[in-house]
Order: sequence, then C-alpha cells, then structure tokens
Amino acid sequence: MGYAHYEITRNGKTIEAGYSVPTTCEQPGCNERIDRGLAHLCGETPGGDEHGCGGYFCGNHLYMNSNPAACGSACRGCNDRYDAQHPDEDEEASVDAMVVTFN
Ligand SMILES: [Zn+2]
Ligand SMILES: [Zn+2]
Repeated sequence: MGYAHYEITRNGKTIEAGYSVPTTCEQPGCNERIDRGLAHLCGETPGGDEHGCGGYFCGNHLYMNSNPAACGSACRGCNDRYDAQHPDEDEEASVDAMVVTFN
C-alpha cells in the first residue's frame, strides 16, 4: 500500500484516490484532467479535514491555504469559507467572497 492508489472515505462514500487514479478537476465547469494525488488535494488529508474539503483540483483552482496553520492547499470555496470565518486575520476577506450572482 503506497500513495499511488488507495481508498478513502469522503462524505460517507468510499472513493479511490492516489496519484495513479485519474479524475477531472472538481471545480464546476473545469474539465482539466488531473489525478487524485496529494498535489491536487484541497486540505491536508484525503477525504477532507478541517483545512479542506478533500476535493481534487487542477493548478488553476487550487490556492495557497488561507489558514496559516495548514500545510496543504485549498480550493477557492474553502479559502473563502476560512476567510469569512476569520475576518481579522486577513484584510482581504474580501467583499467579493460575499458577492452573489443572480442569473
Ligand atoms: Zn475545498
Ligand atoms: Zn480546474
């Protein structure tokens, strides 16, 4: 058992993960081909943890984690959530995190 291929539980579902498991970026509307390796993981722990949702994202949709205590990266949604919960830590807890678009 290595990091290439393993099973994790995410949102109560068992999914395959590891850098040998192909997937697409989980950002809605993005079809970038990636794998389920730690390099694409939001948060630090496969399956999600307090630092991320456990989603897998391409380089365009994975950002430096807003939480200074986190080692992993984070998706936009998780960073926005962190910033909204910790407005004093980050001045840019930005207005645009609050923008809602009505179609
Ligand atoms: Zn996330
Ligand atoms: Zn993407």
